[in-house]
Amino acid sequence: ISLDDTELVKPKIRKKKIAVMTSGGDAPGMNPAVRAVVRAGIYYGCDVFAVYEGYEGLVKGGDLLKKVEWADVRSYLSLGGTHIGTARCKEFRERSGRLEAAYNMVINGIDALVVCGGDGSLTGADLFRSEWPSLIEELVSTGRLSSKQVAPYKHLTIVGLVGSIDNDMSCTDVTIGAFSALERITEMVDYIGATAASHSRAFVVEVMGRHCGWLALMAGLATGADFIFIPERPPSAQNWKQELKDVCSRHRAYGRRKTTVIVAEGAIDDELNPITSEEVKNVLVELGLDTRITILGHVQRGGTAVAFDRRLATMQGVEAVRAVLEMTPNTPSPMIGVLKNKIVKYPLVDAVKQTKAVATAIDNKEFDKAMGLRDTSFYDSYRHFRSITYDDDGSKQLMDTDKRLNVAVIHVGAASAGLNAATRAVALYSISRGHNLYGVHDGFTGLCQGNLTKLEWLEVEGWHSKGGSELGTNRSLPSQDFGKVAYYLQKFNIQGLMIIGGFEAFTSLHELYSQRSHYPIFEIPMVVVPATVSNNVPGTEYSLGSDTCLNQLVSYCDAVQQSASSSRRRVFVVEVQGGHSGYVASYCGLITGALATYTPESKINLNALQGDLDLLFKVFASDRGEDHNGKLIIRNEQASSVFSTELIADILKENANGRFETRTAIPGHVQQGYTPTANDRVMAVRFALQAMEFIEDWNGCGVVHERSSDKKKSKHKHVVIGIHGDTIEFTSVHKLYETEANVELRKGKTIHWDDMIEVSDMLSGKLLLK
Ligand code: ATP
Repeated sequence: ISLDDTELVKPKIRKKKIAVMTSGGDAPGMNPAVRAVVRAGIYYGCDVFAVYEGYEGLVKGGDLLKKVEWADVRSYLSLGGTHIGTARCKEFRERSGRLEAAYNMVINGIDALVVCGGDGSLTGADLFRSEWPSLIEELVSTGRLSSKQVAPYKHLTIVGLVGSIDNDMSCTDVTIGAFSALERITEMVDYIGATAASHSRAFVVEVMGRHCGWLALMAGLATGADFIFIPERPPSAQNWKQELKDVCSRHRAYGRRKTTVIVAEGAIDDELNPITSEEVKNVLVELGLDTRITILGHVQRGGTAVAFDRRLATMQGVEAVRAVLEMTPNTPSPMIGVLKNKIVKYPLVDAVKQTKAVATAIDNKEFDKAMGLRDTSFYDSYRHFRSITYDDDGSKQLMDTDKRLNVAVIHVGAASAGLNAATRAVALYSISRGHNLYGVHDGFTGLCQGNLTKLEWLEVEGWHSKGGSELGTNRSLPSQDFGKVAYYLQKFNIQGLMIIGGFEAFTSLHELYSQRSHYPIFEIPMVVVPATVSNNVPGTEYSLGSDTCLNQLVSYCDAVQQSASSSRRRVFVVEVQGGHSGYVASYCGLITGALATYTPESKINLNALQGDLDLLFKVFASDRGEDHNGKLIIRNEQASSVFSTELIADILKENANGRFETRTAIPGHVQQGYTPTANDRVMAVRFALQAMEFIEDWNGCGVVHERSSDKKKSKHKHVVIGIHGDTIEFTSVHKLYETEANVELRKGKTIHWDDMIEVSDMLSGKLLLK
């Protein structure tokens, strides 16, 4: 057999054709998801089609089904809504509509469909998949298609991406768009809060969520609301009005000048009667409060996606393509979800079933079951909301006098968003339990001067939305005077210490731990709550403030890119913070679509620069001129001592030979944030309260919670609280110092973000050049 013959007998490998669509209500993050599917599809050698206008595009076909190219999805990361359109399509609900859809798919040669939408869209997708063989049969038996035409399309490959602001899909912890909607709600409630406090008014804010209270619950935590109404935990039909009055009037009595109540649109009481915003308003009016209603409506869907959603959508979009390529006729259609912060595939049919189960449980008044079907962080968040808001009346969780503790909280290192939110949460919790929470002013320098004051309810109640550090923070360490630190801890009879901050906080704790044989007071339980934009604290995958930093960078980079839209040929080298850790740079590179990212972990050299220059030439050569913004290169501030931001810009400019210009852009302290993001605020509550429960446990006054996701117990007293996946863990500072910390470079050794680097290079086109 000659070589040519070998070619002949080889089965012809047909390029896979993947179609991607967005369906149902639009959600921020859908465009980044489409971009990821298109580019990953092309990267893996497939043809990718966009289906315009949701299922309508499939039903009607023609121009609504078009092949898309790499360049078509440029700028998609920063676009809100969905650029390929979405619709609620009645025809697809009927078999006749789905028959048309099947016909259009076959005549366009589509092998697989990636649907990004909510539970309705994915229910439709699942039905389409299950009916597919019979639809194909009908198309043949009615003579519309021949057996030969349908032969390659015996099985339909469908992959679901959950794009929905409600976060109402089961089997995934979070859906694409939910955190963006939460951010919008939080911003709006902050705005309303300012006017409410000015006039001493009450506001009832209605948010989306027909069967799911996630938005209302998280918004309640993020905005320091007085009361929330969510469908999974309905209040008693008999008592809710009185409960609402009790909580709101108590907070007024503490001195609060505003009242905020968040109502999910699907709010009910435990007899399943709807609770409307109007009814809630009437109760507050009875209390004598000047009350207004704000129904946020479509504002919640608006705007560009937050950093978290851009990342989630991008990583899941790539995973969807990989799933298409891996599937066999026997693989059940997957939904791409995220469980414990890891991207997972879950059988679509089961996810749809479980989602329906929540609504059914609520309809059957099985509220514990409904709550049980939500993920554990939902449960913990509800518990935390109760403990700092409802149960601060001195009756529910107040400790016996002999069990009340004196605890100190201190801020260490550079300011970052989240320090105040965490302090507020632990202060409110402490007050409700009868503990004394002392705020240490001005870090360890302040502690050495005995600068501690007891934090009061009214003093901290507005700190959830304040960036920076109200207590004052600096880089001073306990080693400046261990004796004085010990003296003042003893003088105030401190029984637990919470150190909130970055690598200096970690170092401080290790210093105190190392000195405990000299100073017995250092044997009290001590916890570091990681808070730093760099996210470089050993023992955690996330630090408070890093989400705010990334969102500041997203806004900054979007603006910088757009500023070049008229000149069209400009490359910005953006220098980001992060110390010696490449986390922020890598994350930022992924979510801004940077063409290259330079981190301390991946050394910059001339070869790398040449490769990036080649990529820039290629990108500018394919520039069609109509939708082009500036191109980005992200450089971490410590990526190289030789290749500075200026030098990289100069090298690129020198070698561009006039094909493009370069500029540097250094956002600097903007990254430390102004107002913390909703995500940082919610996590601040979670970290701070779990840390406080840890201190309580060691002092013998902890409470056991049946269904917490978090491993509270630790045999060590000096720990860093951290998150791994979605689980809170306490790790001994000694162990971290010995095994995980890179003390010289002030960071942890584990790189938990390398998947972001790989995907970033794939979608920027860098890997295609190799
Ligand atoms: P959101 O969470 O934003 O409401 P969704 O995907 O749940 O998004 P739906 O309006 O419920 O939004 O569904 C979108 C589209 O999916 C519908 O217009 C319809 O075309 C299709 N669809 C929904 N449910 C079904 C079903 N049971 N059978 C067939 N198609 C369906």
